[in-house]
Amino acid sequence: MPDIIHLLPDNIANQIAAGEVIQRPASAVKELLENAVDAGASRIKLIIQDAGKSLVQVIDDGKGMSETDARMCFERHATSKISGIDDLFRIRTMGFRGEALASIAAVAQVELKTKRTGDTLGTYIEVENSAVKKQEPCSCPEGTNFSMKNLFFNIPARRNFLKSNASEMRHIVDEFIRVALAFPEIFFSLTSNGEEIFHLEKGTVKHRILQILGNNYASRLVQVVEKTDYLDISGFAGKPETGKKTRGDQFLFVNNRYIRSAYLNHAIMNAYQDMLPDGSFPMFVLFIDLDPSQVDINVHPTKQEIKFEDEKIIYAFVNAAVKHALAQSSIAPSLDFDLDPAIQQLDAVSKPFTEARINEAAAGNLFKTFTQKYQAHRVEPGGNFRDLQHFVLKPGEPYQPGLGSDGGQYPDDTHSNTISDNYLFAKKASSRLSVHDNVQPIQVLNSYILFASDDGFIIADQQAAHERIIFEQISATSSSGTAVTQQLLFPATLEFNPADAAIFSEITVDLLGLGYKIEPFGKMTFILQGIPADLPAGQENTMIENILEQYKNFNPEIKCTKREKLLRTIATARSIKSGTPLEISEMQGLLISLAKCQNPGTSPAGQAIYAECNAGMIARLLGIRKSGTNGL
Ligand code: ADP
Ligand code: MG
Repeated sequence: MPDIIHLLPDNIANQIAAGEVIQRPASAVKELLENAVDAGASRIKLIIQDAGKSLVQVIDDGKGMSETDARMCFERHATSKISGIDDLFRIRTMGFRGEALASIAAVAQVELKTKRTGDTLGTYIEVENSAVKKQEPCSCPEGTNFSMKNLFFNIPARRNFLKSNASEMRHIVDEFIRVALAFPEIFFSLTSNGEEIFHLEKGTVKHRILQILGNNYASRLVQVVEKTDYLDISGFAGKPETGKKTRGDQFLFVNNRYIRSAYLNHAIMNAYQDMLPDGSFPMFVLFIDLDPSQVDINVHPTKQEIKFEDEKIIYAFVNAAVKHALAQSSIAPSLDFDLDPAIQQLDAVSKPFTEARINEAAAGNLFKTFTQKYQAHRVEPGGNFRDLQHFVLKPGEPYQPGLGSDGGQYPDDTHSNTISDNYLFAKKASSRLSVHDNVQPIQVLNSYILFASDDGFIIADQQAAHERIIFEQISATSSSGTAVTQQLLFPATLEFNPADAAIFSEITVDLLGLGYKIEPFGKMTFILQGIPADLPAGQENTMIENILEQYKNFNPEIKCTKREKLLRTIATARSIKSGTPLEISEMQGLLISLAKCQNPGTSPAGQAIYAECNAGMIARLLGIRKSGTNGL
């Protein structure tokens, strides 16, 4: 038998590797724009033909490349931005992996003209299939002019995978906007098929936001500025009335890099709590800046997902900063504003950013103290109750950090539930909840259900409760294989982009087990023939989109199987949301079903569902020192 293993030729290997970085014209747009930014350009022009399928060209006035560098830049792992692994944690540039140009050169025809400041002649290079076709000196302006032509000309299968021009152009505009928002000090333009769509003169962040997202935001922005020695947060958040039905106008940047983070999105949305109607997404453009050693940007090929050394700190700060901003412009209820002193008191927040403290931070000390303090702050039960504790503390009574349980939204907060005297509310440790059949609940803030218990009162989060109920119901049906399907009269067509289609086909098998009847129809289209019998018909498409959206944004920190992840996702997608008014009978039904759950205490995402305030706590809340009277 002959041996069968052989090495792939370089150009094939490069084509395969390119798949990670260059998926569509917009990926090249992102990489080329970032290279121009890294080169220190002050003017960057993007030129597109045919939604980038025939041309993506970026012209910058940055520092340019030498003749040798111009040739080198197409090699895989060729970069001027890092030299060792340690540099990864000092990164201030957008690029560093040295893969973009090699990838582009593997899957397109490339022309590069570049000249360094001060050189008399520049270099012209043509590359195709990872091989240099032509190289000669040329006269050209200082800076770099990079053209990528006929993307995937040599991989027809991938070229066929590209979507309609409208859709590819949308992706390009998205990438363009992300870079342009982060660098308002740079001029950007975007020309598509000869027509200039964006012409963005240099200006302030606000100026840039209005240029891009529209002047109608002008009087509806709230400035966010919080400077601490751990991180700075700046930018703008839209007033609640800017809420839209989609997340379109939400931008979060970490060290000027656009990132996606369901977790931090939650921090921001949470700051708007109760100010937004359900299903409404406020506009925001927020910049988080922190020491690069506190973030790992090398966890994703296109760097859109990053890892923070301590995500919880960032969560708290982002949440507080947005709340603070909204409160100052007196949009948020003033109660929330009372919250701020607790965060403001933290050393990390109040002390100035000095050299010594930077070093301390780097050494991890400050970081640690801050982490502990911060956890102390957030151990108070969540939601709108967390500041009640401050009311209970008598003047002079110390604020005691470091005790207690989580009030967090995510299940990685698994500190034990210590109940100290300072604690107003204790999460019920017992896994049993008893609810009388004739319970008389009232709804608070359209989000919480309050009812009397044998020993005081209980306050429950309606959304978390409903998620738990649905989760247990669908887990039972799916594991017993008893899901009942209702056939749709008019089957719905579900169309996805390639990425979403891949994710969706990953979950169809499990959806079948839950009563959905789905058939693939070509690569990116599915036909929905039936839905679970207990779902109201008529909103199938939205429901599926919701499920997919939630599934994609699922907090990666939650470790669970794919099936469980799907069940949780569906529970969230189908649940009654916070902010929804409920009838008494609905609340009764909810509480009685919750009491029947195996685990009524925590939502599928690990959040506490209810907390009880017992007689002793009520007494303390009201400052009643002597117990024994009136049964308290
Ligand atoms: P990375 O950006 O990760 O370093 P790239 O493949 O994007 O990798 O680019 C490789 C190198 O080519 C860069 O490190 C940089 O030195 C050089 N380069 C790329 N684009 C430009 C540009 N527009 N101007 C100047 N130098 C550039
Ligand atoms: Mg790059």
